[in-house]
Amino acid sequence: MRILVLGGTREARVLAESLRNEPGIQVISSLAGRVREPVLPAGEVRIGGFGGADGLQDWLSENRIDAVVDATHPFAAQITRNAAQAAAAQRLPILVLHRRPWQAAPGDHWITAATLADAAHVVAGLGSRVFLTIGRQGVDAFAGLDDVWFLIRAIDPPTGARPVNHELLLARGPFTVQQERDLLRQRRIDVLVSKNSGGALTEAKLVAAREAGIPVVMIERPPLPDGVEVVHTPATALEWLRAVRS
Ligand code: NAP
Repeated sequence: MRILVLGGTREARVLAESLRNEPGIQVISSLAGRVREPVLPAGEVRIGGFGGADGLQDWLSENRIDAVVDATHPFAAQITRNAAQAAAAQRLPILVLHRRPWQAAPGDHWITAATLADAAHVVAGLGSRVFLTIGRQGVDAFAGLDDVWFLIRAIDPPTGARPVNHELLLARGPFTVQQERDLLRQRRIDVLVSKNSGGALTEAKLVAAREAGIPVVMIERPPLPDGVEVVHTPATALEWLRAVRS
């Protein structure tokens, strides 16, 4: 059985690793090719877009793929739509593997926003020194906020416009709670903006914000295509693949 794992996440790498010695399953992992020095999954890897849902459909057929696991980031909505459409057209089983979203805990002060634009709209009313931890995409939504200072943290420099007052911090997680505490204090942060990506690797910022009583603008995940099956852990995705194989 030949599997396409759409990746770019830790979960996708864990799944590819666990499928290495799985009898009867051959994996090809796919990365978009956005990050300059990606962490590569184990086994066969291809890099770059497919050319939309139609291109992906052709690719699935040419590569004789039997099932698709979409383990892309929960905010990578376009590839998730394309994968659902292409798999349906090819009548292939498809599973979405998205890590569990974070939940607000006692002591948290979260303001949820449906989109980046909504987040930009509320942020100026909450503070003047904002820690923007949304990755390199979408920073332009905050570009018009001239009265706010931003600490922008991303793995690679953001694409598109940036706010005039900012510091760019290029860093790749995981980060410890102590590192996040220090950063909030040193940069005198009074608001944190995050996507609800979920996962342990970048959760420390939420703990540090809770301790410091700093409000968090939490951007909700984009909706999934209708009817797709979703699991939250690589182990459950592995069980699904074994069931498909048998
Ligand atoms: P997106 O907006 O959903 O996708 C845009 C286009 O990028 C897709 O139409 C597709 O191009 C290509 N693409 C995306 N993921 C791909 C993959 N795994 N393999 C091959 N092509 C892919 O995606 P995005 O938000 O730009 O994210 C790009 C990648 O970065 C994803 O793999 C995702 O897992 C990872 N990532 C995203 C975020 C985030 O916050 N969005 C955070 C961390 C990691 P074609 O139409 O040409 O096929």
